[in-house]
Amino acid sequence: MSLTAPDRSRWPDPLAWLAAAAADRAAAGLHRTLRPRSPERGGQLDLASNDYLGLARDDRVLAAAAAALARWGAGATGSRLVTGTTELHAELEQALAGLVGTPAALVFSSGYLANLGAVTALSGPDCLIVSDAGNHASLVDACRLSRSPVTVVEHGDLDAAARALAQRSQPRAMVVLDAVNSAAGDLLPLADWHALAARFAALLVIDDAHGLGVRGAGRGSVAEAGLAAEPDVITTITLSKALGSQGGAVLGSRAVIGQLIDRARSFLFDTGLNPAAAGAALAAVRIIESEPGLAGRARARAGQLARICGVPATDGAVVPVLIGEAAAAFERSVALRERGIEVGCFRPPSVPAGTARLRLTARADLTDADLERFCQTWQAVSPS
Ligand code: PMP
Repeated sequence: MSLTAPDRSRWPDPLAWLAAAAADRAAAGLHRTLRPRSPERGGQLDLASNDYLGLARDDRVLAAAAAALARWGAGATGSRLVTGTTELHAELEQALAGLVGTPAALVFSSGYLANLGAVTALSGPDCLIVSDAGNHASLVDACRLSRSPVTVVEHGDLDAAARALAQRSQPRAMVVLDAVNSAAGDLLPLADWHALAARFAALLVIDDAHGLGVRGAGRGSVAEAGLAAEPDVITTITLSKALGSQGGAVLGSRAVIGQLIDRARSFLFDTGLNPAAAGAALAAVRIIESEPGLAGRARARAGQLARICGVPATDGAVVPVLIGEAAAAFERSVALRERGIEVGCFRPPSVPAGTARLRLTARADLTDADLERFCQTWQAVSPS
């Protein structure tokens, strides 16, 4: 069968919509630009990064990354199941499991991929997923990829979750949530969520990206709640925030980790975590274990930032300051940057429309002088 050349003019140019989409984003204050940061913190005061414990530039972490690079090379060279697993990966997995208190751990090349792997490999069409509305995009995407039916419940709504679990027709179920919400900083009552999941024979997947290093003397919110060793609890973490490195991990029982090694596509079909990142993360774990006071320091600094901004303290190291409209939030973040202070600016789709906010992050290594400087600048840019 031969096709005659179609009349292309029947359809719009395939790229024509991009200009209109960009114009719409600009009009709504949602245009983003990439700004390379300076190599050192230099003159800018960093209240935007996720380096909660200040370990991304710690000499011990840098030395461990350099040693791993020299020993294992610049890349992992293959999937974890082929050539991408080194002794360092195995050691890091043991150390992470030891830190949080789980029987086993599996390292992924990002926290995003750890969430995709955990949720997709442990669910499926016969498993209802109950997902908290405040969940990070990686969990949302994991639910979408899982081919499971998904019920989204209002943030923290235990009753709605119970109803969904009770009324399900699927034999299996999974509850998925962030321990510390990334945009609001509140910690969900994990023991209540575990009791609920257990009552309805559901697995509980907890993303502790913003709790690890910051809660439970650094061991995270799941350890703090005493749930790490529960066989029906699966914890996911990132190595890219409090650990100052890059990568992610899933922590849980040996049976869970075995299933992920065989079935998590974001593990199987991805090149293993970079050795330098593994070395850095391992050094950061050792520091957190030997300096349990770091977590409290980061949270105390977050409390001071919240007081300066006149907003309530949160349960983590993030301090959201609600502004409302995206353009206004962006303007305030630019005004701060021009005065030497970097803060995060969260706009839709990161947060719901009308709830654009500045997101300040505290670090354990902030000084009193840093706080004083922020206080003066904040007052200068705030409407009187
Ligand atoms: N979960 C949460 C709650 C996060 O905030 C993030 C990072 N923004 C991730 C997962 C993804 O982690 P990573 O950056 O290591 O991919």
